[in-house]
Amino acid sequence: MTATSERSASPTGQGARQVDAVVVGAGFAGLYMLHKLRELGLSVQVYEAGDGVGGTWYWNRYPGARVDVKSVYYNYSFDRDLEQEWEWTEKYPPQPELLRYINHVADRFDLRKDVQLRTRVTEAVYDESVARWRITTNRGDVVSAQFTIMATGCLSVSKMVEIPGIATFNGRSFHTGNWPEQDVDFTGRRVAVIGTGSSGVQVIPLVAEVAEQLTVFQRTANYVIPAHNHAIDPEFQRAVKARYPDVRKANRESSFGIAQPEATKSALEVSEGERNAYYRRVWTNKDSELVSMLTGFTDMLTDETANETAAQFVRDRIAEIVTDPAVAKALQPTGYPFGAKRPCLGTNYYETFNRSNVRLVDLRATPLTEVTQSGLATMEETFEFDDIVYATGYDAMTGALAAIDIHGRGGVSLQEEWAAGPTTYLGLAVAGFPNLFTITGPGSPSVLSNMLVSIEQHVDWVGDAIDEMRRNGVTTMEAEADAAEEWTRHVADVGNTTLYPKADSWYMGSNVPGKPRVMFAYIGGVGAYREKCDQVAAANYEGFTLT
Ligand code: NAP
Repeated sequence: MTATSERSASPTGQGARQVDAVVVGAGFAGLYMLHKLRELGLSVQVYEAGDGVGGTWYWNRYPGARVDVKSVYYNYSFDRDLEQEWEWTEKYPPQPELLRYINHVADRFDLRKDVQLRTRVTEAVYDESVARWRITTNRGDVVSAQFTIMATGCLSVSKMVEIPGIATFNGRSFHTGNWPEQDVDFTGRRVAVIGTGSSGVQVIPLVAEVAEQLTVFQRTANYVIPAHNHAIDPEFQRAVKARYPDVRKANRESSFGIAQPEATKSALEVSEGERNAYYRRVWTNKDSELVSMLTGFTDMLTDETANETAAQFVRDRIAEIVTDPAVAKALQPTGYPFGAKRPCLGTNYYETFNRSNVRLVDLRATPLTEVTQSGLATMEETFEFDDIVYATGYDAMTGALAAIDIHGRGGVSLQEEWAAGPTTYLGLAVAGFPNLFTITGPGSPSVLSNMLVSIEQHVDWVGDAIDEMRRNGVTTMEAEADAAEEWTRHVADVGNTTLYPKADSWYMGSNVPGKPRVMFAYIGGVGAYREKCDQVAAANYEGFTLT
């Protein structure tokens, strides 16, 4: 079970340290994968680029960073004691609390000893002659593994603006997805925030409170509904813990990994009064959830007219909150359906634009042209800043995989294979890349769900598959090309029955110039998807070749 420790790297990987599995990434996915594989008796090496464990929650330390799934649902379910003993403090846990939780898990299950920090995997090459992966890191490690598991995260490669001059800026620059470990003080400073997605929406109100001036550069207005974050009600936490098995089951069988009452009516079947009463309840109820805005009616994500009723409801609230009508208008999202880009939860978001020290610049009217030594320039104006915060998002879903030089059978490059968009079987495996698994990979529900539910489902599935292989003397498991193509078509077909393709979003790859425009996640629902994965396993891993 323990791995040998020599590191005599050879180009073929012969003589390299041998382990059963390499896991790339020590976030929620990588840590649970490590735990699972160790329980199965495998030797595992985890590589993690960060200085600590936590993945996304290690890097996203910007002011206001918190998850927008309720704490009691956004945690591991694999250990009964763990889920009972950890006490959440808020409805939506802030990043420091999530990081404490992940570190607690790392200690509780003694995971750190197999995690090598500050190490980026640069290359993964499949050697057919020995049916093993040769993994290389930026620190010179070369390791040979039967299995490679990519737990690299869906939103882990930051994306910058595509204008010249970024490096010339003389002030401080930050990206929300790669925030420094030490506190950053914006007190009395002139700050720019570029981007109004979930990260921008969280950081903007807090910077506004202390900065001398805050200028928000908005390209696309977002739908932001109130978070109503608050200290967790101890009674609620106790009640959830008391019925965790049922709660988990319901979440696993739901659409988004957070169980909701089942909608029975179209938004167009009910009166305007009834519809708006529902939206208002979601908008005002301190215990409501983001997903509730999408799940109250059957056709919110499939019918534009139905969807427009929720979109208009949000626009009307913006008009009520924001005092300057021109600013309110610029903040009102139009041109794409509610939910087709990731909607956001905000705390004082729209209210922030009523402050005298905050200005909104509409980049649709006047696009950014340059980062200058002293600030930013748009087509119409130049601005001077002390700090620029890039809340400009990620090369989502495939960015972290593309950042590693991955070669499968016959030396085929994954990046080249996916030039026209990722083709996967179940978002878990790729034809031509035996024994390589992608946790919450493209083509799985992943970012369209409560990530913890999807991560655990994938880790359990991969762990069970590896266990089965070992029991039956199978050495390699590889997705069949036909099965992968069929699944990928299905992902696209289901996506096309929804409103998602109607928006330019990172779900569709549209935020990264040159990225293929396809549906990167599966919107068939986590419950249905889990059933499909279980059926495949029960049918002796139908669609995979076992050797
Ligand atoms: P994002 O949603 O992709 O938002 C990026 C923002 O930057 C958008 O407003 C985008 O405008 C803008 N932008 C990008 N490139 C630009 C450019 N060249 N010029 C001007 N503006 C530009 O990224 P994010 O806010 O980091 O969030 C990513 C995802 O992470 C979220 O959707 C969510 O799934 C997750 N997240 C969750 C939480 C949470 O749980 N509360 C918090 C943070 C992040 P366009 O819309 O026009 O592209």
